[in-house]
Amino acid sequence: MEDCVFCKIRLKELHGTILYSDDDFMIIKDINPQAKIHLIAIPNTHVPYIDMMTEDGACLLGKIISKISHMQEELGITGGYRLIINQGDNAGQTVAHVHIHILGGEKLKEF
Ligand code: AMP
Ligand code: ZN
Repeated sequence: MEDCVFCKIRLKELHGTILYSDDDFMIIKDINPQAKIHLIAIPNTHVPYIDMMTEDGACLLGKIISKISHMQEELGITGGYRLIINQGDNAGQTVAHVHIHILGGEKLKEF
């Protein structure tokens, strides 16, 4: 946790553009956007990988997904969005603190 960029942003030890925060999570702008809108939803609790999460932690991710769905207008999202979780090396996870990418703002490439 000491070297975690997302925890440092939450603790204001590192600058980040925080768009929203509450007792469960925060939403920041991704520093290297892969779409017109690229945000990251980050649970406050530091858990590096999904397979290290408790069931309660996973339930919290569901709660966060639900909250995001009701925040589209304030996040500037219209016309849909994509949520992505990268888990581990093969998926290219670079920050070892579970997070959900939110991509939107344009027609996204299908896959
Ligand atoms: P992942 O590859 O799924 O681990 O995603 C990590 C994401 O965090 C990448 O999209 C990075 O661009 C983003 N990122 C890394 N450092 C920062 C930072 N200091 N502020 C905002 N986003 C960051
Ligand atoms: Zn962390």
